[in-house]
Amino acid sequence: MKTRVRFAPSPTGALHIGGVRTALFSYLYAKKNNGVFILRIEDTDQSRYVKGSEEYIHQALDWSGLTPDEGPSVGGDFGPYRQSERKEIYKQHIDLLIKKGKAYYAFDKAERLIEARKIEEDNGKTFRYGAENRMSFENSLTLSDDVVKEKLQGDYVVRLKIDSGNEISVFDEIRGNILLDSSLLDDKILIKGDGMPTYHFASVVDDKLMEISCVIRGEEWLPSLPIHKLIYDAFEWDTPKFMHLPLILKPSGKGKLSKRDGDKDGFPVFPISWGKSSVGFRESGFLTEGFINYLALLGWNSGTEQEVFSFEELKQNFSVEGVQKGGARFDFEKAKWINHKHIDRLSPEELISLPLVKDKLKRVDSSKHLALIQLLKERLFTINDLQAEISWVSERHPYDEKVMRKLKSKSPDIILEGVSKILNECNELKKLKDLLMPWAKENEINIGLMMQCFRFALVGKLTGPDLFGVCNILGKNVSLDRIMHAISYFKQKN
Ligand code: GLU
Repeated sequence: MKTRVRFAPSPTGALHIGGVRTALFSYLYAKKNNGVFILRIEDTDQSRYVKGSEEYIHQALDWSGLTPDEGPSVGGDFGPYRQSERKEIYKQHIDLLIKKGKAYYAFDKAERLIEARKIEEDNGKTFRYGAENRMSFENSLTLSDDVVKEKLQGDYVVRLKIDSGNEISVFDEIRGNILLDSSLLDDKILIKGDGMPTYHFASVVDDKLMEISCVIRGEEWLPSLPIHKLIYDAFEWDTPKFMHLPLILKPSGKGKLSKRDGDKDGFPVFPISWGKSSVGFRESGFLTEGFINYLALLGWNSGTEQEVFSFEELKQNFSVEGVQKGGARFDFEKAKWINHKHIDRLSPEELISLPLVKDKLKRVDSSKHLALIQLLKERLFTINDLQAEISWVSERHPYDEKVMRKLKSKSPDIILEGVSKILNECNELKKLKDLLMPWAKENEINIGLMMQCFRFALVGKLTGPDLFGVCNILGKNVSLDRIMHAISYFKQKN
């Protein structure tokens, strides 16, 4: 059987990283098995529809490198891939279930149901429209054919007829057998009052017709699994495989990760920005490969020590056995570390061709870009770090007063005068280090101290990238100017 896996988001807003993680695992599973990755838009709930979200889903998948083989924009042999365009298909299938006696029309008014619920709850019981009481309501099981025909002109829903007292057993690839007593279920609505199918019904019909071989989705859908099994049974269809992925937990490990956690602690929870208020991983300076690699680790491990994977390596290494049952704690520092590894893997040429990098360097002379990125790339956790990392390039950084106080009693002006002399005489900046070191030794100047004074003069603080790299980027004249400025600054402070 051909492996066919679908990602089935609802266009109800931006795609949270939990959704992208589901798409990623589905994609990897499909690719590992030489299969097909399908995008299906589940837009039957008009009340939750948010304008622009389908477009967002396409863009987010695109940036994440998870391009569907079939879907609303690419087409395919199993379309339409938007549920709102499949109404006729659901109609045919619900008619089939009604004919088989597995589903029935229900005409009960909301007030009647509220009243029935109240009576049960007042007696401390849970109200369920199902096997025990369905014969006391207004539905096609209790009314004559003529009355049903007439009532079908008005409002109605279609419910699944669930027998009580059966053990529903369904297998999940990650969690094993899931068992549920069918008496605990109500007769689930399959077609709603507005004529649209419910999630349960549309999802099962589409998974069957689209020949999905493995349904992969988040753990929050596990309670739906026994219901879906009953719908497959009602049609007498075989079930596909099921795989429910672990939740993504808050950084504290307690509870499901939400947008609010990101807002509170200042990290993104969306792949790309959604409106002005929600910044994405892309805009936070993540590379697609870094983002995807980190997401893959949220609930999966390769069984080895390896944590840094290219997209290709993920496709080769992904396996169901490596997917964990327990929730996966979100750790933004780890995400940045993984991203850092991917930034460092790229060549300076590759990095400067990225739009985000270009944007950050737009105020720097382009002849310096390559050398600058070469110098800084090992220091970047996100591309956005470039902003702070290049702050010394066009202007001298304000002097760090604390450092000034530390250095001022150690004759920094005299040391810097020596450094400036050597620099002035140096014709090739590449050789500066080889000239400075012996000079310091000969003059009994502590090398560490000399380097500190030199760094302070060039960048105003004691941290930063390789000092000779910095000097090379600034060039001889600017470096000399900055040294002179630091000398007079120290003189003034003494
Ligand atoms: N439409 C559901 C969602 O929004 C998909 C659930 C499933 O994959 O079956 O997540």
